[in-house]
Amino acid sequence: MDSEKVNNDRRAMRWGLTCDKGECQERVNKNGKEIFEVCKFKPTIKQVEENTQDSLSCHYYMQKYDALVSKHSLWNYHAFFTIMKFNKKLFEEYLDRKVTVFDEAHKIEDQIIQFVGFDIFSGQVDECNLNSEKYDFTDLDSMIQLTDDMAFSYAKKIKDIKESAAFQNNPDYELITGLERRHDRSAQAKIDIMSDKDNFVVNEPMKDLNGNFRTISVKPIDVSKFANSFFETEYQIFMSATIDKSSFCENMGLRQDDVAFVDTPKSPFPIENRSIDLLNIRRLSYGSTEKDELEVIKTIDRIMDEHSDERGLILTSSIPRCQKILRYLSPKNTQRIRLCHSKNKDGKTQDEVISEHATDPTGVLLSSSLWEGVDLKDDLSRFQIIAKVPYPNYTEKRTRAKMNKFPLWYTSQTLTKILQGFGRSIRSEDDWAKTYVLDTAVNNVFFKGQQMIPKAYYDVLGIDTA
Ligand code: SF4
Repeated sequence: MDSEKVNNDRRAMRWGLTCDKGECQERVNKNGKEIFEVCKFKPTIKQVEENTQDSLSCHYYMQKYDALVSKHSLWNYHAFFTIMKFNKKLFEEYLDRKVTVFDEAHKIEDQIIQFVGFDIFSGQVDECNLNSEKYDFTDLDSMIQLTDDMAFSYAKKIKDIKESAAFQNNPDYELITGLERRHDRSAQAKIDIMSDKDNFVVNEPMKDLNGNFRTISVKPIDVSKFANSFFETEYQIFMSATIDKSSFCENMGLRQDDVAFVDTPKSPFPIENRSIDLLNIRRLSYGSTEKDELEVIKTIDRIMDEHSDERGLILTSSIPRCQKILRYLSPKNTQRIRLCHSKNKDGKTQDEVISEHATDPTGVLLSSSLWEGVDLKDDLSRFQIIAKVPYPNYTEKRTRAKMNKFPLWYTSQTLTKILQGFGRSIRSEDDWAKTYVLDTAVNNVFFKGQQMIPKAYYDVLGIDTA
């Protein structure tokens, strides 16, 4: 949809447009004094429950509160986990349910990790009048010191404000509440990290273009200790086509005895519609030679020639690899390619690139990010090429630490991504596509992860079920 600037808030709301300011509660100056003001469109949950909200109420909160007061509701992970992490007490009476169903359960760790550990932003360090140059942003102890200094500074600010004459005359509770929340988070972060220091790693700090510190995150290697606070109903159902019981239980801190595992013995889609060719062209790794790389690209060219009148998908492990493939393909096949990343150079979204692809009868998507969550049904893709095994990013500190502590986790992450990739182009019983795997390293992943492969893949992978 085209965007349009609307200066009249009420009219924008009436037209059902979204709020691009998004500060549901903001600090404003009233009579020379800073206070927090709640957006006048924000309804209360009680109003939504009793259906007494204003007709102009904010759509976002209407949806959110509607979901909370409904008998059954459907959430995205981020919205649901935000409530479970920060507002559980506030919405307690609405969260009392018997069952929660978690779809795409193989992605839960990526969701939980966003809610545990600690993110520190430069604005908070400034607000606490601390000098970021005093801290070593690669060292866990120094980060613990920083959270401690922040908690101390927030506590002092709160005390000073409470004792001030201005506050005594006209108390600004909103301001105090905000500071108290930031104090509690800093203090809690220190307690969390200190209680299990070996479980935390400091990721690389993010810096701005001038090299100044912007944000840093301290994350747990093992999320299992935190996961259960997100799963609180009496029963949970985790759904995925690509998880296995033991690594899922280990990762999520579930006792295997408490979990019943349903491994569908057969795929509901006919085998001939989802054939997989392990072509074993070359093993691609950090040490592979230029010759190996070019041999793989030559094979991609050949497969594209064989499918010259169809749409397809090429998956690889990184953006530089996508660019290399594009550089060495034949001119004819290069023209068919559309690079598709989660963020694209020309500002196009992933969905926009896929819509363009849908209008090109012989278009081929080339990506390192379309392994999951994309639906290339029917003739949107009739062949898919897995050029390189998608190992998790070993250069990330947390990945490295987790791999060293849980070697099977690394295999299970890789396997899950490959199996997810297999499913991108076969979306229903009548849909079909041919899959080619070029990287020989895939055999290693299947071998190491043989216990983790769901039964529904046994037929296409030629695994003996006897
Ligand atoms: S309450 Fe709704 S309309 Fe108001 S700032 Fe928040 S999102 Fe925007």
